[in-house]
Amino acid sequence: MMVSIHAAVGISTSLLFYKKVNAAPYKVKSYVFPFFSNVVLHGVMDIIPHSHLIPSIPDMLIALLIPALLIPFIKRKYLILVLTCYLGSIFPDLIDLGVFRLLGLGTFRIFPWHLVEVYFFLDAIYTNHFVNVLFDIMAATACFALVFWKRKGLQLMLRTKQEYSG
Ligand SMILES: [Zn+2]
Repeated sequence: MMVSIHAAVGISTSLLFYKKVNAAPYKVKSYVFPFFSNVVLHGVMDIIPHSHLIPSIPDMLIALLIPALLIPFIKRKYLILVLTCYLGSIFPDLIDLGVFRLLGLGTFRIFPWHLVEVYFFLDAIYTNHFVNVLFDIMAATACFALVFWKRKGLQLMLRTKQEYSG
């Protein structure tokens, strides 16, 4: 799936974990599950039908812009959580499609869903472009649904007016 959708969904999952961080903000333990669950979620999102509607460069730029635009509005206490979820959500692409390519390792992959064989297998199954785009839209919608469902948590995670002036 496009890295921008991974990023958007990943960041929204921080709404599922903020209570743990509230209880133990300075423990690494609070961030381990959010990170790895986002890595797994990335795999699921790469296995279900998906399109490549946006070319990779603008897709990457959007994936970088999403956290850059959100960070100024998030309370310091939750910044590490949001960044952990974000990093987990893009981590498999960062390693397999970023680092390994830069190192000239070509088709070497760590994450099984990125293996060339899997890629071609899925490409052969998911031939209906409409369905592929529909799944992209559903993933993006799930992200907004999560934000709406956890809107109280969102209010807690966002900085208040006093924090801006102070
Ligand atoms: Zn991927």
